[in-house]
Amino acid sequence: MGQTLTEKILSDHLVEGELTPGEEIGIEIDQVLMQDTTGTMVWLQFEALDLDEAQTELAAQYCDHQTYQFDFKNTDDHRFLRSAAGTYGAHFSRPGNGICHNVHKENFAAPGKTLLGSDSHTPTPGGLGQLAIGAGGLDIAVAMGGGAYYVEMPEVVNVRLEGELPEWSSAKDIILEMLRRETVKGGVGKVFEYTGPGAESLSVPERTTITNMGTELGATSSIFETDEKTKDYLERQGRGEVYTELKADEDAEYADEIVIDLDDLEPLIACPSMPDKVVPVREVAGNKVEQVLIGSCTNGGYEDILPAAKMFKGREVAKHLEMIVAPGSKQAGEILARQGWTAEMMAAGVNVSEATCGPCIGIGHVPASDSISLRTFNRNFEGRSGIEDDNVYLCSPEVAAAAALKGEIIDPRDLADELGDLEAPGVELPEKYDGAKTDLIYAEDAIDDELIKGPNIGEVPLQDPLGAEVGGEALLKMEDNITTDHIIPATSDILKFRSNIERLSDFTLSRVDETFAQRAKDAGNGVLVAGENYGQGSSREHAAMCPMYLGIEAVFAQSFARIHKANLFNFGIVPLAIDEETYEKLEQGDDIEIVDDVAAGVESGQQEFTIRVNDEWDATATLNASERERRILTAGGKLPLTKQQAEGG
Ligand code: SF4
Repeated sequence: MGQTLTEKILSDHLVEGELTPGEEIGIEIDQVLMQDTTGTMVWLQFEALDLDEAQTELAAQYCDHQTYQFDFKNTDDHRFLRSAAGTYGAHFSRPGNGICHNVHKENFAAPGKTLLGSDSHTPTPGGLGQLAIGAGGLDIAVAMGGGAYYVEMPEVVNVRLEGELPEWSSAKDIILEMLRRETVKGGVGKVFEYTGPGAESLSVPERTTITNMGTELGATSSIFETDEKTKDYLERQGRGEVYTELKADEDAEYADEIVIDLDDLEPLIACPSMPDKVVPVREVAGNKVEQVLIGSCTNGGYEDILPAAKMFKGREVAKHLEMIVAPGSKQAGEILARQGWTAEMMAAGVNVSEATCGPCIGIGHVPASDSISLRTFNRNFEGRSGIEDDNVYLCSPEVAAAAALKGEIIDPRDLADELGDLEAPGVELPEKYDGAKTDLIYAEDAIDDELIKGPNIGEVPLQDPLGAEVGGEALLKMEDNITTDHIIPATSDILKFRSNIERLSDFTLSRVDETFAQRAKDAGNGVLVAGENYGQGSSREHAAMCPMYLGIEAVFAQSFARIHKANLFNFGIVPLAIDEETYEKLEQGDDIEIVDDVAAGVESGQQEFTIRVNDEWDATATLNASERERRILTAGGKLPLTKQQAEGG
C-alpha cells in the first residue's frame, strides 16, 4: 500500500515504534526553533543536560514575543538567548527581525525535514512540505541534544482543494472554512495533508497561512506536497538548492477526506471569541470598527500586506479608527519600504509597527473597552488582546483593509461596488526576496561563547526520583476546564519571569486563588484536585514546572488535556484520574495519601492505586501511562532521566 506524504517523512525519521495511528512513535528531529518566552527555559534545560553543542542539523533562536522590552528583564532574556545561541551553535535572530515562523520560513524551512519548535504555530512551514510540530521546551532541549521526539502517530486526513479562489477570497478563507466545518477540536490527533488542483494553484505564502492556522484546529501538523510553486518560492529566497519534490503515493490511503471547492468560497470572518465562530463577512457587515491590525505569523508576509497596501494607495482610512500594519518579518517590511508601499500606507493613515508578535498576545495596541477590533491574526480567545471584554474578529488582509477604509465591517466585494474604482489586488510575490540579513546572526558568526545570565535568569528546578510515598494536603480543588493560562498567566507583567521559576512560581494558579502560591510554600508539599480537562490550552511547560517547584506531588483530576499531561510527566508530577464520585467527595484541605508504594507501582506497570482520605475513606485513582512515561516519572522527570541515560545509568 502506498504512503501519504506525512507517512513518508515519518518513515524516513522513525527511530522507535510503528506508524499505527494512536501508537507512540519516536522520530529524529532535523531542525529546532525557539521563541523568546519559551527559549530561555529550553537553553537552561539544555545547560542542565550538560551538553556542549546542538546536535540537530539546525537550531534557531528568535526574539519575537516580547520585543518592546519594557525593562531590563526582557533585555536580560534576549542577551541570554544570544549568548546561549552563540555558546551552543544556534542561529540567533535579533528582536525586531520578525516572528519565528516567518523568519524560519524565509531562511531555513526545507521540504522533507522534521522541525520541532517551542511554539504552537511551529507547523507553519508545512506549506513548503516540511513536517513541523510544536512541543514543550524540554522536548526541544532533548531533541536538540540528539534525542528522539515522541508523539502519538496521528491519523492523516486528506483535504482536497478543488477549483480556484475567486477574486476577493483568500487563503485565510480556506482555513476559516476548515474551522467553520471542523471546529477547534476537529484536528486533534490528526495531520491535514492538502492536495488537489486548488492546492496546486496556491503560492507558498498562501499555503503557509493555512498550515499556520491548522493549530487552531488542534492538529498535530498540516502539510502540502511540493511542486514548481515551492521551488519557485525557494529560488526567490535564494535557497533553491534545498528544494526536493515530495508527493503522496497515488494509492496512499487516508483516514478521511475533506473536500473544499474554492470556487464557492466567499470572504469569511471569525467572530468573537473563538477562531471557529466563522460566518460570511456579509452576515456581520455594518458593525462599527475602532481598530484594524494586519500582521502576525498568519498574515504578516509581504504577500499579505501588499494587497492591503494596494487598497490603501491614494485613499484614507476612516478617521475614527486606528489602522496598524505590523510586518511578520523585517524582510517583508524592508521590501515593502524599498518598493514605496510603506509610504503609500503611511499617507493613507496607517501606523506601521515593528515586526513582532506584540499585539497578538496583548502587548501593545490593546483595543479600547467595548470596541470592535478586526485582526488578520489566528486567535481571538477572550482577553488575549490585553483587555478582558474584547471583541476581536479574525479575517483576511483584504477584509481588514476594506473595514479600515469604510470604518465598519464590509465585504470587500461590496466596497468595490460602492467605490467603483477598487480592484481586487490578488496575490503577488516579489521578484526576489532581497531583504538584508543584518539582524540574523548565524551560528558561525556568533558574538558570545559563554552564557550571560543577568539577574532575571534563574535556575532549572530539579525533582528527586519518585519515592514510595506520594500525597499531602489538597491545596486547591478546581472546577472543569482549568487552562494553562489559569495555572501560569501570560500577561506581560508575568511573562517577563518565564526564565525565573522561583519568581514565576509566585503567580501559580493566581487566577484561581491568589493565596495559592503562599499556601503551597507554607505547606512544603501537597496535591491538586481538578475536574475534567485539566490543563487545556497551550503547550506552556511552566504550568507543570511551577507547581513542581512549589512541591506539588500529584494531580487528581477527572481527566487531563493531552499536552499538559505529558508536561506533568516531564516534571515528575503524578497525574492520576479519579471518577466523578471521588471528585465530588474530595474537599480542599483534605489529606490525601496514596496507600501503595508509588515508586514500585509506577515501575511495575500498576494502573490502579488506592488513596486514603483523612484516614477515613478510600477510593481508587488510575495512572494511564506508557512505559516511557513511567520511566520518566520514576526518574523524577524527563531531565533527570535524560541525564541518567546520557551517563549510562
Ligand atoms: Fe504566537 Fe501570535 Fe506570535 Fe504567531 S504572532 S507566534 S500566534 S504570539
